Amino acid sequence: MKRRDFLKMSMASSPLLLAGCSIWPHLCRSCHPDQEAANKTTAATAPVEIAEPNENADLAETQDVSPKKTQLQLSDELLKDQRAKSVYFSQDFPDDIYFKGEKFDTMKTLTMKFRAVQKNIGFGNFNLISMDDFFRFSTASASIGGITAAEKKFLEEIFYFDAQKYGFTGQKVMHKFTDNVPKNKAVKIPRSGHYLIGGESVEVYNRVRKDIGESLILTSGVRANAKQFHLFFEKALSTQGNVSKASRSLAPPGYSFHGRWDFDVGKIGYGLKNFSDDFANTDEYKRLLDLGYINIRYTQSNLLGVRFEPWHIKVEDV
Ligand SMILES: [Zn+2]
Repeated sequence: MKRRDFLKMSMASSPLLLAGCSIWPHLCRSCHPDQEAANKTTAATAPVEIAEPNENADLAETQDVSPKKTQLQLSDELLKDQRAKSVYFSQDFPDDIYFKGEKFDTMKTLTMKFRAVQKNIGFGNFNLISMDDFFRFSTASASIGGITAAEKKFLEEIFYFDAQKYGFTGQKVMHKFTDNVPKNKAVKIPRSGHYLIGGESVEVYNRVRKDIGESLILTSGVRANAKQFHLFFEKALSTQGNVSKASRSLAPPGYSFHGRWDFDVGKIGYGLKNFSDDFANTDEYKRLLDLGYINIRYTQSNLLGVRFEPWHIKVEDV
């Protein structure tokens, strides 16, 4: 099914998405007939070095591109030290929790469905959909064939599972499985393929770009629950079901501050390195720190069990 037909059908059956039409103008040609021409103009005048992200662009955050890929022999002392987990985030620890067997298979099937919905509705829009939207889009697609009751139960159980048991001690941000981001306040950030919520986030982003320059770009903005589930599952597949290890690099669903105001920045042309410690060596990062108005949520050796994320900008003070 073509993306346009899929959206037409899904929107017709979804009052929520119809109401949110203002945030899908580049896809909703019935309300924004001039948008296709506008998109072409933008594409023609956009600087060549800033490419639209492809469908997997921010999956970079789920990849481990650090040089610490091979398993190290950590001392017994380090293996018991919570702080070691944020430094040696890509290592296995003895108390790590795994999804195995049926759980792993269900996660894999759902990952395929998240990928398919993202492909159908578009990379940018996928950042903003709620779990209910995800179910609706899945049902509307003959090739996806909907989400089973068992799969829904699995998703809900993961959402309400206490992530401290994975070793992740960050705060819960989205409290309900059905919670969503305020779509009517979402602002698409030009040439990034991502959205920020209007207000503080957009102000901080604009200020950062003004001070650092146009070499700085948004690499991941607001992410609703479906997007966070997708990223987390992709990460957990790459760790062979080690969900503790996955949670050291990516907040589990419901625990990401991308669900509120936080966002990630990178250096144009820096690719996957934007989501590695290498970003901390860029002039852009050094200037971010020198200017001093940016808080980094996950610092080095943090006690939250999360890797150092120099690219992640904390907006809201909580
Ligand atoms: Zn982030």
